[in-house]
Amino acid sequence: ELQPREIKQWLLQANQLFQENKDYLTSLDQAIGDGDHGINMARGFQEVKNKIEPTEYTNVSDVLKDTAMTLMSKVGGASGPLFGTAFLKLSTSLKGADNADFQHFAEGISAAGEGLKQRGKAEQGEKTMIDVWLPMAEFLKSQNEFSGDEIESKAKSAMEATKDMSAKKGRAAYLGDRSVGHLDPGSVSSYYLFSTLAEIVK
Ligand code: ADP
Ligand code: MG
Ligand code: MG
Repeated sequence: ELQPREIKQWLLQANQLFQENKDYLTSLDQAIGDGDHGINMARGFQEVKNKIEPTEYTNVSDVLKDTAMTLMSKVGGASGPLFGTAFLKLSTSLKGADNADFQHFAEGISAAGEGLKQRGKAEQGEKTMIDVWLPMAEFLKSQNEFSGDEIESKAKSAMEATKDMSAKKGRAAYLGDRSVGHLDPGSVSSYYLFSTLAEIVK
């Protein structure tokens, strides 16, 4: 079960990763996009931190909703509305519960993945963040208990699998097959989210 405090900790630790890896994420986006992904994520999650850190939450849904709204309004580019949508769907799925049990959380991640597909008009295999969210949703739903180590390794291999894909959506799609051989920046950011989740549930 995840309490509001743990959800908050998840997002704050993710923020730390986005700050530390800002230049790396930007370099990934320089290779196949417009080179702003690190800046977008670092700015967005700094704003998330500013919003949620001083706030007392009594239910998990509200932390996630504030996160979603902040990302939607503060992050430019494709990734802001997309991550915003993911967190909003997760928030809605968990509405009414003080804490999130693992099964509900897994269903929430699944709803987030579906929301991303709709919002991005993308399918799995098109070299976008969806290629991390959907496999993770399937994996989490198949588990009775969350294992941090397994979440970490699943998320990592999903992220790495984007390297061999040819981009069909987003700016990288302009490169087509020339995008092969590069990691998808949004998938690396999504990996950071699941990697910190893995630490929280450990
Ligand atoms: P922008 O491309 O507008 O500069 P970012 O660089 O912040 O925005 O984010 C790029 C990431 O967004 C990509 O690496 C990809 O994972 C994701 N993305 C882009 N377009 C889509 C889409 N249509 N559906 C899902 N994800 C997408
Ligand atoms: Mg970009
Ligand atoms: Mg941009």
